[in-house]
Amino acid sequence: MLDLDKRSIIYLPGVGPKKAEILRKEANIASYEDLLYYFPYKYIDRSRFYKVSEIQGNMPYIQIKGRFLSFETLGEGRTRRMVGRFTDGTGIIDLVWFKGLAYVKDKYSIGKEYIVFGKPNEFGHTYNIPHPDIDPLENQEQVTGGLVPFYPTTEKMKKSFLNSRAIQNYQYTLLNSLNWGIQETLTPEILHKTGMISLKEAIRQIHFPESVDKLRKAQLRLKFDELFYIQLNILRSAAFRKTKLKGLVFPTVGDFFNTFYKDYLPFELTNAQKRVMKEIRKDMGSGRQMNRLLQGDVGSGKTLVALLSMLLAVDNKFQACMMAPTEILANQHYATLMNFLQDMDVKVALLTGSTKKKERNELLPAIASGEINIVVGTHALIEETVIFHSLGLAIIDEQHRFGVEQRSRLWMKNQYVPHVLVMTATPIPRTLAMTLYGDLDVSVIDELPPGRKPIQTMHRYDNRKAELYDFLRKEINAGRQVYVVYPLIEGSEKVDYKNLEEGFELFKEIFPEYKVCMVHGKMKAADKDAEMQKFISGEAQILMATTVIEVGVNVPNATVMVIESAERFGLSQLHQLRGRVGRGGEQSYCVLVSSYKLSNDTRKRLEIMVNSNDGFEIAEADLRLRGHGDLEGTQQSGIGLDLKIASLSSDGQILQFARTIGQEILDRDPDLITGMNPILKERLARLFSRKINWRLIS
Ligand code: ADP
Ligand code: MG
Repeated sequence: MLDLDKRSIIYLPGVGPKKAEILRKEANIASYEDLLYYFPYKYIDRSRFYKVSEIQGNMPYIQIKGRFLSFETLGEGRTRRMVGRFTDGTGIIDLVWFKGLAYVKDKYSIGKEYIVFGKPNEFGHTYNIPHPDIDPLENQEQVTGGLVPFYPTTEKMKKSFLNSRAIQNYQYTLLNSLNWGIQETLTPEILHKTGMISLKEAIRQIHFPESVDKLRKAQLRLKFDELFYIQLNILRSAAFRKTKLKGLVFPTVGDFFNTFYKDYLPFELTNAQKRVMKEIRKDMGSGRQMNRLLQGDVGSGKTLVALLSMLLAVDNKFQACMMAPTEILANQHYATLMNFLQDMDVKVALLTGSTKKKERNELLPAIASGEINIVVGTHALIEETVIFHSLGLAIIDEQHRFGVEQRSRLWMKNQYVPHVLVMTATPIPRTLAMTLYGDLDVSVIDELPPGRKPIQTMHRYDNRKAELYDFLRKEINAGRQVYVVYPLIEGSEKVDYKNLEEGFELFKEIFPEYKVCMVHGKMKAADKDAEMQKFISGEAQILMATTVIEVGVNVPNATVMVIESAERFGLSQLHQLRGRVGRGGEQSYCVLVSSYKLSNDTRKRLEIMVNSNDGFEIAEADLRLRGHGDLEGTQQSGIGLDLKIASLSSDGQILQFARTIGQEILDRDPDLITGMNPILKERLARLFSRKINWRLIS
C-alpha cells in the first residue's frame, strides 16, 4: 500500500511545482495525506432555492432563482457601487458590487434567468446580497449539488487560483485515484463497539457529503479519531509511569501533622480541603509515585493543603520543598509557613536568587544533611549545588510559569522520584485538563473558606475617572488598600511602562495625602521587594503595578483592584488579577477601566467578568471566545495541540468517550500487542514519534 504521507502533492494532476509550493507554505499541505486531512470549515446547503419573500435577518448563504430588472451605479468614493435589482416574482432584492463594477453589466443581461448564491445582509428595512455568485440557469446541474464544502484559503492561494472550488477539485481527483483505498486507523473491535463509520467512508463524506446525516457521521468519526489518539498516548504514558516508577510510601500520620492540625491550625478546613487532603494521603500511602495537579481558584486555600502535605513528608522522615515562580511569592510563602509553624519544631529555610552567599553556604550543607525539613524557594532550588538529603515531596506553585524541563530537574538528581504536587490557580477547562494533564491525577478545591463576600466587579469607561477617584478615596479612608494594574503586552512594553509611570505621577498628584508605591518587572529585585513590602506592611495605600502581581500575592487588607486598559487583558488574566482582592472579610471590588470603543468580543469578555466570579466558568468562556490555541499553557505543553477537526470547546463528550474507550483497551492490553491492537500501536508511534515524551518525567 502506498504511504499517503510520503507521496508529495506535486504529483497530483493539476498541481505542479508552483502550486505545490503555495499549498505547502500557505496551507501546510505537502503530501496526499495532508490534502485528505484538509477539511472544509463549513458547508452550504445548495439543495434548495429560497424565495425573495422568505429572506429575513441573519440567514446563512442561500440561493435564489430569478431575473435582473435593472442595473444602476450609486454612491461616491468608497461607497460607489453597482446595484442590480433582482426578482423571482415574490419580491425584489438588491445585488451589490463594490468591486469590478464595470464588468457586471457586460456579464449579465436583463430578463435572462440566473441562479444567485450569497449571504443576505440586512440594510435598514431591506436586504441585499453583496458580491453574489451568479450562474446562468442552464448550468443548474453543475452548481446546485446539495451540500457544498468551503475550504479555508488565503489571499496568496486565491491569487494562484487555489480557491475553495480548486481544492475541492483536487480532493475529487485524489479520492478517485485512490482505488487502493485509505488505510483504516481503528481496529474492527473499536469500530464495532462505537458504531463509527470507516475512515475511508468518513474521508469521502467529509469532502463530498451525500446528506447532512452522513456528514455528521463523518465528522464524528474524524473527531473521535483525533481525540482518541491523543488520549491513548496520554493514558499509555500514565500507565507506564504507574507501573514502572516506584513511589515512596508515607504510612505515618505523625506528631508534626497531628500537633499542627489539633493545636495550631487557626480555622476549620473547608470540606474541599479535607477531600483533597484525603486524596493526597491516599496517593502517598499507595506505593505509587504521586503526580497530582491541584486546581483551586485564587484564595481557595491551596497553600494550607501544601503545608499539611509537607508535614506528612516530614512525619515520615523526608524533606519537602515548595517552589514558586517569583521571589515575591517565595518570600510570601516563606512568611506564611513561618507564621503557621512558629511554635513548632520544624526547620524551614528560604532559598532564592537573592539569598546572600554567606547564608547560602550555611544553608546548603544543612539541606544536604537533612537538618532542614522544608525548603521554600524559586528556580534557585533546582541549581546543581542544591542537594537534598531525602526529598520526599516537591510542591510546585503556579506551574504555568515553570517549564517542564525545570520541573523535572528537581528530581533528576535524586536516586528516586519524590511525590509531586503541582498547584495552579489558573482554572483549566475540563477538556483541556484532560488533554494537557490527562496523565496527572487532578484534585479540585471548589469551595472558598467561609465568610468571604463575593467580589463586586464593575466596568467603567476611562472618561469617567473623577468618580473612580472619589470611590478609591472612600475605601482608603475606611482603612483599605488599592491595587492599580497596567497591562504589559509584548511588543508594546515601552508604551506600557510609560503609561504606568505617568499613572504613578498622576496618582501621587491626585492623592497627595496617601503613600503610593510602584512595582514592575524592570526594577531590580531588591527595589521591587522594598516597594512591595511598603504595601504589604500597610505603609503605602496604593500599589501601582504591571502584571507582576498577578500570581499569588496575598494582602487581605487590599479591597480594590483597578485594572487599567482592561480590554487588553485576556479573561483568565483578568480573573487572576481580580483574585488579589477579596481575601479578607471586607467587601471587595474590581474596577475594569476601558476605553469607550470596544470590539464585540471585548465587550463580551468584560461582561463575563462583571457577571461571574467563577474561575471555571470564566475559563470555559475564554476557551469558547479564543479557541484553545491561544490559551496559556498549550504552547508550552509540548504535545502540540494541532487539532484539525475536533474542538476542545465543543467536543467534550467525544473526548470523554474516546478516553473511556482508550482506557478500556489499555486495561486489557497495556502493551497493545493482542488481536488487531498493533494497528493502534503503530499509529501512535507514527503520530507521536517526533515528540519527546516529557510526560514521563514531569
Ligand atoms: P490560594 O493559594 O489558593 O490562592 P491561600 O492558601 O493563599 O489561597 O489562602 C487564602 C487565604 O485564606 C489565606 O489567608 C489563608 O490563611 C486563608 N484560608 C485558607 N484556608 C482557610 C480555611 N479553611 N478557613 C479560613 N481561612 C482559610
Ligand atoms: Mg497561592
